[in-house]
Amino acid sequence: MSRYWSEVARRLEPYVPGEQPRFPNLVKLNTNENPYGPSPRAIEALQRAANADLRLYPDPDSTRLRESIAAFHGVSADQVFVGNGSDEVLAHAFLALLKHAAPILFPDVTYSFYPVYCGLYGIAYREVPLASDFSIRVEDYRPPNGGIIFPNPNAPTGRLLALADVEHIVAANPQAVVVVDEAYIDFGGESAIPLIHRHPNLLVVRTLSKSHGLAGLRVGYAAGDAALIAALARVKDSFNSYPLDRLAQAGASAAIEDRDYFDAMRAKVIASRERLVAGLGALGFDVVPSAANFVFARHPAMPGGELAARLREQGIIVRHFRKPARIDPFVRITVGTDAQCDALLGALGALFARAAG
Ligand code: PMP
Repeated sequence: MSRYWSEVARRLEPYVPGEQPRFPNLVKLNTNENPYGPSPRAIEALQRAANADLRLYPDPDSTRLRESIAAFHGVSADQVFVGNGSDEVLAHAFLALLKHAAPILFPDVTYSFYPVYCGLYGIAYREVPLASDFSIRVEDYRPPNGGIIFPNPNAPTGRLLALADVEHIVAANPQAVVVVDEAYIDFGGESAIPLIHRHPNLLVVRTLSKSHGLAGLRVGYAAGDAALIAALARVKDSFNSYPLDRLAQAGASAAIEDRDYFDAMRAKVIASRERLVAGLGALGFDVVPSAANFVFARHPAMPGGELAARLREQGIIVRHFRKPARIDPFVRITVGTDAQCDALLGALGALFARAAG
């Protein structure tokens, strides 16, 4: 704190991202990155774009990339907005579409950036408790509210809400925008994007950070009715006209267009997740059913914080959240390669053998 800080800076409670430690032979399973990296075609496109044209500003509207995304989802380019990571897209959605007099609704256990944006922009919110199995109860999301946001699958639980239930929430709230954050949908769920044609109040937000293996490039997008997209563009053009640089636009288009690579990599992650879930179950863990590239699990014999700390001693990083209290016993484990998952299971096996012995 300094006397030079504005009132806004003083009051902020910033989001805390998972750590990015740098030590050798790290098994990094804490931030839901994709272990396989992007399509080789994306890397080639990035290399081709690294040329003297970088003296020029990029296309402020990312037209070519929006067209690639639109073709991928069978929508039109004016139904697509792109941003510097889906975090930026979400930030603009909070300001452009969720800031109203009535409080917005989101689950009590969810992506911890949502309350941070509410703090930044002065948006009132109400946390809606999940059921005891961490599922979203659709009947709890009714008017009046100023908007609704939830990830599907939810984070950090990995639990999926069926598409019919997503549509139920959207249809029950025509007075407000419903934002569905599909950061992890490609690992086991059905996207709500086709619903944007019949629901003008639905905004679906997605990212290339997970299923396209491009967390380092910072590209996210939203799909929705053209009027919702126009509101996001107004905020973007009042904040930063060029959120995606030339490299990001070129690399992201190539990644989106390589559908075969995308399908192969997500299938690999899904197969590794099933192996990991079986391995954790054999060690006595309770694992929440996951449709994401991570699993949320607890062990009756060891608190979540201790588990994470013991694994860290062996160079294996998983994520532990202290809040809210009912998720304190859990750790969130990113699905890595089979070799990384085996390293984790081996370390856990040794840990519990020692604890028992
Ligand atoms: N939504 C959810 C639910 C997430 O877990 C994350 C990753 N932290 C994001 C959005 C943001 O991802 P990115 O900014 O990398 O697109």
